Amino acid sequence: MSENRSGCMLVVTPHPGDIELGIGGLVAKTTKEGKDVVFVVCTDASKGTSIVNMKPGVMSAVREKEQLDAASILGVREVVFLHHPDLGLENVPDLTREILALVLKYRPQVVVTCDPTLKYLSNPDHRAVGRAVIDAVWPFAMAVNAYPELREKDETHRVDEILLWQPAEPDYYYDITDTFETKLAAFKAHKTQAGDPMRPDFAKKFRDSAINDAKDRGYELGEKVHRIKIPEIL
Ligand SMILES: [Zn+2]
Repeated sequence: MSENRSGCMLVVTPHPGDIELGIGGLVAKTTKEGKDVVFVVCTDASKGTSIVNMKPGVMSAVREKEQLDAASILGVREVVFLHHPDLGLENVPDLTREILALVLKYRPQVVVTCDPTLKYLSNPDHRAVGRAVIDAVWPFAMAVNAYPELREKDETHRVDEILLWQPAEPDYYYDITDTFETKLAAFKAHKTQAGDPMRPDFAKKFRDSAINDAKDRGYELGEKVHRIKIPEIL
């Protein structure tokens, strides 16, 4: 059943916390403009810790709560959890289909995810999600005969653009001067990742990177993406 959420921004992340780090300023800016943003969290985040005594089930529950808190700070009302095993997305054969179903349900104007093309130190979940999201948007969402069981009345959907955060090749920048503090507060909600209280070097890193992403652009703090315009036809 498709919901009339046309024009929303759909943000698909492998793990809790990645969105806030990569694109939290843009998300806060988008909700501030009154637009709907929906988060999709693909894994249960059960392995994202070096704390020896943290059991996977406990870790998942804690991180899910942290993600809901962060979303609320950013003005995001809806978070979908897919609960796949952490560090296991490369072994999920239907990930593209699952994301396609969400694209057809929410009919977003913009889809945001992580860059699957990073070299070296590239998390396998990030490669799997980035690839599956791009494939789901183009060509699958526009290919009426692919997964017909997901479509009502042969519906297709064309997303305007995909944005990749922490891009290997940045080519577009956003002014997040007004929402930088919200981005920081949202990341702070991920206490298992940021520290409690937040490690002071993190705040400095965030600011330095935002200053760098605004350099020579006429604003104070920025965020970078790689932007993919989706063609009108397959
Ligand atoms: Zn991640």
